[in-house]
Amino acid sequence: AQERYASLRDKPAMGRCGTQITLKMNAGLMADLPSLPTSGAEAVGLFRTELQFLTRERMPRRSELVATYARVLDAAAGKSVHFRTLDIGSDKVAPYMKRPDEPNPAMGWRALRVGLDKPGVLRMQLQALIRAAAGRPLSVMFPLVATGEEFARARDTLMREIERERRLGHELPEQLKVGAMMETPSLAYAPDSFYREVDFISIGGNDLKQFFFAADRENELVRRRYDTLNVSFLTFLQVIVDRCHETETALSFCGEDAGRPVDALAMAGIGIPALSMRPASIGPVKSLIRRSNLNEVSELIARVQVRGLESARPALLDYVASLVD
Ligand code: PEP
Ligand code: MG
Repeated sequence: AQERYASLRDKPAMGRCGTQITLKMNAGLMADLPSLPTSGAEAVGLFRTELQFLTRERMPRRSELVATYARVLDAAAGKSVHFRTLDIGSDKVAPYMKRPDEPNPAMGWRALRVGLDKPGVLRMQLQALIRAAAGRPLSVMFPLVATGEEFARARDTLMREIERERRLGHELPEQLKVGAMMETPSLAYAPDSFYREVDFISIGGNDLKQFFFAADRENELVRRRYDTLNVSFLTFLQVIVDRCHETETALSFCGEDAGRPVDALAMAGIGIPALSMRPASIGPVKSLIRRSNLNEVSELIARVQVRGLESARPALLDYVASLVD
């Protein structure tokens, strides 16, 4: 099977209908980057920046971050990298960062909330990203954005740092894209102005699903209880797809589910144009997409919705079983 996937490496993830899906990879360590050329990923759709913070005994220095991010961009060799700013708190805690004791940390003071309330670390990280990307394109996305206003404030913080770096005489990124991770149901229903302001949206399905079903992603008792292909969730994802379509906003999905071939097929079928996953999933996902007709998948999901079924998974599994190799 690995060989079959290797032979697909340079082929597009194009369904038999002719629709092409962009497959990207998730990363978080320098050690992940060699997979970019070998997996056939078109870009790094999610670079989780927490690891440089979580694997240390102390706060990393700005100069260390500049060096790390520059090496990531070097290794990406011109392919785009969506750097996700620090998503600390909840399941990700750094020993040297003081944290309040929270009754419900997943819904607590984490990710962008910390960055907006105590912007010191976020600003340092943004400075490092700007310097690392000097003369090159830079894509930054903010985690756990819950409202359009939070996104606007985060983007203002970034723009102020750009201005500061300019005044200090540093070379600026050649191009800047500012995105939001869609991880809370509230953001899906943000005003149109949010969709028009944001350069791209990446659905963080792990968190989005946890908040959609109110089922803790860390809790073994409930974490597998609700299916990603549950019709309620697919119908909700379609709201995001439609709003992005109407406002011409670039959309991708970067939660773990994007790396599960049948789930990925459903996402492609409802119109999510780009999927970002662990590198080892790219071959299996691409293989399935190439054997499928995404129009048929879309119709199949619509029929499941009309028939009032709970989940699209049984119908999709039948469909996948019917495909020829
Ligand atoms: C997600 O929530 O789907 C996501 C990609 O971010 P993380 O898993 O790092 O929270
Ligand atoms: Mg998340």
